[in-house]
Amino acid sequence: MRWTQTFIPTLKESPADAEILSHKLLLRAGLVRKLTGGLYTFLPMGLRALRKIEKIVREEMDRAGGIEVLMPALQPPEIWQQSGRYETARDVLFKVRDSAKREWVLGPTHEEVITHLAANEINTYRQLPKNFYQIQTKFRDEIRPRFGLMRAKEFIMKDAYSFDTTDEGAMASYKKMYDAYTRIFARCGLQAFPVEADTGVIGGNHSHEFVVPAETGEDNVAFCEACGYAANIEKATSGLPKTAARDVGPEIEKFATPGVVTIEALSKEPYKVAANRQIKTLVYIADGKPVLILIRGDDQLNEAKFKARSGAVEARPADVKSEADLAHFQKLGAMPGSLGAVKNVPSDWKVYADERLRGANDMTTGANEDGFHFRSVSMERDVKVTDWFDLRTVNVGEPCPKCAKSLKIRRAIEVGHVFKLGTKYSEKMGALFVDEGGKQHPAVMGCYGIGVTRTLQAVIEQSNDKDGIVWPVSVAPYTVCLTPLAVAPESPVMQLAEKIYAELTAKGIDVILDDRDERPGFKFKDSELVGFPLRLAIGEKSLAKGEVEIKPRAGQILAVKAEDAVAKLLELIEAGTPKV
Ligand code: ATP
Ligand code: MG
Repeated sequence: MRWTQTFIPTLKESPADAEILSHKLLLRAGLVRKLTGGLYTFLPMGLRALRKIEKIVREEMDRAGGIEVLMPALQPPEIWQQSGRYETARDVLFKVRDSAKREWVLGPTHEEVITHLAANEINTYRQLPKNFYQIQTKFRDEIRPRFGLMRAKEFIMKDAYSFDTTDEGAMASYKKMYDAYTRIFARCGLQAFPVEADTGVIGGNHSHEFVVPAETGEDNVAFCEACGYAANIEKATSGLPKTAARDVGPEIEKFATPGVVTIEALSKEPYKVAANRQIKTLVYIADGKPVLILIRGDDQLNEAKFKARSGAVEARPADVKSEADLAHFQKLGAMPGSLGAVKNVPSDWKVYADERLRGANDMTTGANEDGFHFRSVSMERDVKVTDWFDLRTVNVGEPCPKCAKSLKIRRAIEVGHVFKLGTKYSEKMGALFVDEGGKQHPAVMGCYGIGVTRTLQAVIEQSNDKDGIVWPVSVAPYTVCLTPLAVAPESPVMQLAEKIYAELTAKGIDVILDDRDERPGFKFKDSELVGFPLRLAIGEKSLAKGEVEIKPRAGQILAVKAEDAVAKLLELIEAGTPKV
């Protein structure tokens, strides 16, 4: 390809609304353009990099036994009603109406469509296992689309769905995908690693996210350098001991705490109740119903854990400013700061407590009376707990749950997700098979997603320098940028460039010939911004000595003999291609 014949609208300055570095570089390097928030047009350089990632994904999915299909993005709402997600996923579902006013759903993911297919097409164990995948556009009504391709309303995903006859089979399919993902990200030049992930309302305990460490990531990951434990903060636990048991008085004691409405205030004079001897009582609205959540005063509630463990689809703190919510506080008899679960809890309210409070005594908590607390509270004796869950958020420095060394936390970008689903969808949607004995069972499923467009941006977020993108060879839009410093067709410089261009192209190398009649510095800057892994500059002066210059994007200039240039480039390309 010749630079003048494609379209690479590079920018000197970052557009003001680009928030993170990779987003700025996507725009500055002319890879994409924004249509409106969360919607982007891929320009030739962006599209080429995207296609390369897709190719890697496809090759590894095929290698792992995946069967490629292509499902409709436009879907009937009935299948979403059947799975129950018409309600539970309604926040992200884009809905459209046709001219007959009939409603349709734009697919945010395809469990429903594939399970519908399996229900119709798979009948016997002889047809299993199967793993279907596609690379396709998804639509999600993200409330806050941001960071360019990272969180878009329309994006490309590779999604795969496995069907097995047994749990062990499903685990084997899971493992294959896990391994394929490891290879895919390595081949994309990405340092991505698997972390244990929450399985949400679906349950089960086999889910991993593949994440790329980055300050700009929207996920937090707890990890242990000593043993390799790594988990999304929504799932991470630590090896902290339970609250130490103490002697406790024979009964609870009410005491006045006028104006004291925070854990901190109660921990000071004259009360001096350490935060770890306090019970924090939160009123939450879970799927429309008020519930109490109890955690230790020095801990923070993890809402994702609460939802996952309790099965709530929606959960939010009750708000004293809302009239409806205010009624709940009035029922308890106090406002936040004086709340507790010892007395006055309506019998139909559920009370969830964090595991760390199990067996705790000599605790202090609100008395459900403004300006009063109870002390000498024993969880077992004085509080009626509906369910105990791990509900707290892990903090830096806590002991690793596996090896007790100190946990670290860092931000990361989720690029992929593997998930053992079990029979949730196959049961609801009738994806059944008959076993050898003629008995019918629901297929055991798994689902596996990679954000292809997010992965593209994650590569840029991880691989850049002050001059621009530093593409790994495997996903660069072009591998070599040939830069003749004279572009008149008859000049020896251009003639050599044409010759090398033809030779590299014949070897299957993606080359872009920068045939623009511009100053060398201008051309170099642009090619560095776009980030081609190798640049071959041919100038009149050095050519007079029989030399050309190779500049690896992240390395030093190498002067090589003109006749050795192609061999040297091939050697560098080979060295820069990850082997998996
Ligand atoms: P997130 O927690 O970031 O919202 P998710 O858990 O909703 O992601 P999945 O449903 O597991 O995502 O989708 C599979 C993959 O699709 C994710 O790992 C991510 O790479 C990508 N993805 C999800 N939502 C978006 C989006 N709005 N824009 C771009 N990529 C996305
Ligand atoms: Mg996910």
